[in-house]
Amino acid sequence: MTVSAHNIVKHFGAFTALNDVSLEAQPGEFLALLGPSGSGKTTLLRIMAGLEFPDSGSIRFDGVDVSTRPTRERAVGFVFQHYALFRHMTVAENVGFGLTVKPRNERPTPARISARVDELLSLVQLGHLGDRYPSQLSGGQRQRVALARALAVNPNILLLDEPFGALDAKVRKDLRRWLREVHQTMKLTSVFVTHDQEEALDLADRVVVMNHGVIEQIDTPDAVYNRPASAFVCDFLGNAN
Ligand code: ADP
Repeated sequence: MTVSAHNIVKHFGAFTALNDVSLEAQPGEFLALLGPSGSGKTTLLRIMAGLEFPDSGSIRFDGVDVSTRPTRERAVGFVFQHYALFRHMTVAENVGFGLTVKPRNERPTPARISARVDELLSLVQLGHLGDRYPSQLSGGQRQRVALARALAVNPNILLLDEPFGALDAKVRKDLRRWLREVHQTMKLTSVFVTHDQEEALDLADRVVVMNHGVIEQIDTPDAVYNRPASAFVCDFLGNAN
């Protein structure tokens, strides 16, 4: 599915968080929103998800304007920063949550929910941990539970806010490869937020570089690396070399 943002403007009081932002993610594309803290990445992601609404501009899925639709009426899965798992629910209950809150006429039977949860838990290789609570899991396992929860509603679009932020370097690298595989297998269009340049350049098909609520560059990782248009990326490359 194509996801596009058209001239998005978002204010918080007198502060302009997004100032005329437009972009398009092609079907099957893995897009990174890269930029320093406060540049508007999470706000843009939340607007794509319907967790936040723009003051002007539109979000379209395959050309259809979904700007005023709530999240549950968009084909999106969302992975929150720090995963935001429900602490009082088991892993299986967390994964099935999105299905249990569907409107009554769309809600699967408990048996179907349970079968779908089993399927998702084996996809994320946590089939044996369904009865555990999030506090009993490692960071990498929690990340995979959050991903399974996001995938439960069979999304066409996967949105991830700093999906690797809380993890150590080794786990992060393994999960990157693995997330890429899930993205491909499930034929998703994915957008992830990161302030980590290396992660964006390593994982994304294209990188959207944001700063102060505007887009400074949209390009392939190679082009962003070799012809950086943004001071943020230039600083990073300067430090790295
Ligand atoms: P990033 O994800 O790039 O770190 P955010 O999109 O989270 O940036 O935030 C962009 C700016 O908007 C920040 O300065 C932040 O403080 C501000 N902001 C975000 N959400 C709100 C809100 N609900 N109320 C007020 N200000 C907000």
